[in-house]
Amino acid sequence: MPVSRTALPEQLAEGYSRFVNQKAPAAQALYQRLGEGQTPHTLVLSCADSRVDPTTIFAAAPGELFVLRNVANVVPSFERYSAEGQGALTATAAGLEFAVGHLKVSRILVMGHARCGGVAAALHQCQNPEIAEQKDSGRYFIDRWVAQMTEDGDSVLAEYEGEGPAVVQQQLEFRNVRQSVKRLRSYPFIANAEADGRLSLHGAWFSIADAALWWMQDDGNFGIVEG
Ligand SMILES: [Zn+2]
Repeated sequence: MPVSRTALPEQLAEGYSRFVNQKAPAAQALYQRLGEGQTPHTLVLSCADSRVDPTTIFAAAPGELFVLRNVANVVPSFERYSAEGQGALTATAAGLEFAVGHLKVSRILVMGHARCGGVAAALHQCQNPEIAEQKDSGRYFIDRWVAQMTEDGDSVLAEYEGEGPAVVQQQLEFRNVRQSVKRLRSYPFIANAEADGRLSLHGAWFSIADAALWWMQDDGNFGIVEG
């Protein structure tokens, strides 16, 4: 039994209507092919932030990017989450395993961004460590998740002491990308694929206000990409 589009929330119905009437017909052959399976070339891990959409930034067609998103684009530590009882229950780790082990993507890009709420929450926790002990704050899961960045947050706060909050926040956003790329190598299936030359690892940071991408270079510094 067909469902009327009016059954959908209005904002979603309008978007779906544009997709069906304007985009899908032109992409019919592509979708037909994708119906058989996917061979994305790149895995992008980005923040769940609504302003930072990898498919939009790289103008990618369906089937090109395997996208994982979580709060603050954090790669969880392999040691921490693969331990029995810690639950290998991170969607991020499962997605990495699937994309690298089964889909055989050629590269992984960890993409951070400006004004990241998750990074700000981690810094707030560094400055108010008692938060981590609170159970009824209404942000139980957020506090535990962003705690993965507090060690780096403490380092950045010490290194950039005296700098304004915007500088400190940006430096932790950069550092979180660097550390996440580094932690990718703690997953044996990623380290092996990289060693065999089947996989390359990259970092980037999206500056929202000017819609510009910054790329992580070999020395770990970020530079704006020429348009
Ligand atoms: Zn974010």
